[in-house]
Amino acid sequence: MDLGIAGKRALVCASSKGLGRGCAEALAAEGVDLVMNARGAEALETTAQHIRDTYGVQVVTVAADITTEDGRAQVLAAAGQVDILVNNAGGPPPGMWTDWEREDFIKALDANMLTPIALIKALVPGMIERGWGRVVNITSQSVKSPIPVLGLSNSARAGLTGYVAGTSRQVAGKGVVINNLLPGIHDTDRADALDAGAAQAGGITPEQARTNRQATIPAGRYGTAQEFGAACAFLCSQYAGFIIGQNLLLDGGAVNTTL
Ligand code: NAP
Repeated sequence: MDLGIAGKRALVCASSKGLGRGCAEALAAEGVDLVMNARGAEALETTAQHIRDTYGVQVVTVAADITTEDGRAQVLAAAGQVDILVNNAGGPPPGMWTDWEREDFIKALDANMLTPIALIKALVPGMIERGWGRVVNITSQSVKSPIPVLGLSNSARAGLTGYVAGTSRQVAGKGVVINNLLPGIHDTDRADALDAGAAQAGGITPEQARTNRQATIPAGRYGTAQEFGAACAFLCSQYAGFIIGQNLLLDGGAVNTTL
């Protein structure tokens, strides 16, 4: 299926690895030129070169922390006008509800709520002027079903979800489509880190922790970055113009709800 976005230009934040990389590769496979970002320059450049070689698209890289004002300024300067924005950043650390002070919440809000909002505010006006745009925010299944040890993530992502719910409806008539993708457990470094944490807390091996977590997913496995990227590319496609402000769960059935 041709998604009809060849020749468009996308900024994919936090995309040297994991779900961001999955999104970048799926867009590149559709002929979309990329601006890619991550903090670590080496992995970012390696992934960018792989994408140039594999898909023949143009890829600009910006090694910067997207959660800082300075990092965002660098990324936006390199990005210029983009048609597609994929918001992503690392997730906050796990802990207990008693662990977190005001500074911890501010950091989580900055990374997982205020950074995507700042990038939407910077780039959506240009999309409106040109009459076409797509924004996908990578959030989490924790938006629909809280993960108790990820209280910082639960809080910050709920805030972004509320903002997107209203904003997506304000810009829909201008050709700009904003939606959220909610990952359940996917096979990335982040999942490995969470397995390692669960193993340490439970006195088991990381492999056992993974087996235990897989048993909670009706699909019986972790998701892949490729599957995730394909969903992202569809939400960025010409065919997604009537999908407004939605929260699409990709979790192998783990969140047990009817709607
Ligand atoms: P990952 O495999 O750890 O990859 C994270 C990517 O983001 C890397 O390229 C990393 O590169 C980059 N990055 C992290 N912090 C950044 C920052 N401040 N500025 C710029 N780039 C940054 O993580 P993932 O599994 O893909 O997760 C992506 C998001 O989805 C996270 O917010 C995570 O909480 C959420 N999520 C993931 C899962 C899952 O199962 N994987 C489930 C639910 C939610 P550098 O380290 O070099 O910057």
